Amino acid sequence: MRAVYFLGDRKLAVRDVPDPTPGPGEVILEIKASGMCGSDLKFYRAHDGAGSVGLAKKGDEPVIAGHEPCGVVVEIGPGVSNRLGHVGMRVMNHHYAGCGCCHQCRSGWTQMCDAGSTVFGVTGNGAHAQYMKVPADTLVALPDDLSFKAGAAISCGTGTAWGGLERLGLRGSDTIAIFGQGPVGLSATQLAAAMGARVIALDIDEARLTRSKEFAADATINPKEGHAVTAIKHLTHGRGADCTLDCTGTAQARSAAIKSARKWGRVVFLGEGGDVTIDVSTDMLRKQLSVFGSWTFSKNGQADCARFISERKIDVDQLFTHEWPIEQADEAYRLFDTQTTGKGVLIPS
Ligand SMILES: [Zn+2]
Ligand SMILES: [Zn+2]
Repeated sequence: MRAVYFLGDRKLAVRDVPDPTPGPGEVILEIKASGMCGSDLKFYRAHDGAGSVGLAKKGDEPVIAGHEPCGVVVEIGPGVSNRLGHVGMRVMNHHYAGCGCCHQCRSGWTQMCDAGSTVFGVTGNGAHAQYMKVPADTLVALPDDLSFKAGAAISCGTGTAWGGLERLGLRGSDTIAIFGQGPVGLSATQLAAAMGARVIALDIDEARLTRSKEFAADATINPKEGHAVTAIKHLTHGRGADCTLDCTGTAQARSAAIKSARKWGRVVFLGEGGDVTIDVSTDMLRKQLSVFGSWTFSKNGQADCARFISERKIDVDQLFTHEWPIEQADEAYRLFDTQTTGKGVLIPS
């Protein structure tokens, strides 16, 4: 089969490798859609790939990239129950494997396994390939009315937005300011609006702001054109937003997310990497602020996200602006690297 590997420093290779075969408890997916996620850019750009976000050790061999897997089960290994997975089943993959028996694993948060987890597409073989071998207990059923592309988005980017909104306990009466309108931020805008919240979308790219309007943002702010915190307060009768969500990972946006949240407000950080300096007394204590970190979602969270999207008929496919065959992965990532497009997806033939 054909498979894509990130080699570091913006280099990638499309290689011919043997088709995977399932061991006990494993299944083979025929990948129908493999999304390109913002965090892939970190692995693609960095000299040390996954080491850039603390996920891999120096000297690890490159693995098959892609951590938004969606497809169909085509082969099952020994000992897989029919309820977990069967041939022909349309599935997403919760792209982590843990020990299976610690508290985190049993609660469906295998990425937080006490014994250390494998992240498919980052520290274990991923979905930028024709086939992918995964443990059967990582499968999450794809609702019949959702496309494979939608399933790919839910498998990281859109699911991560869902996870952040869950951490905030977003209510329909809330105004939420969402910093960054790339694929995760845009998903957060779309989901938060569907939950009934009022969304203020922020980005430094005008085209992305235009798209966020199409995704039901109530108001947009370009921080390049003035002070983001002042603009958010202006839109909220001087109070600040009930909730703020950072998808950028930049210190400036994180700081603005904290400062623009109202007294008793809630803040969630989704963007990876980097740091931020906070004036704790003024910005947090005096405001009784709650600040959450959120890392993707549990297995049940992934299923909940898919169910919500299906039942509310949310057009997740609209996130995607580009589709590529595996052979054009290099071109795909060169364009994605500009961070001016919508979401991209590899469709293995
Ligand atoms: Zn575990
Ligand atoms: Zn991701």
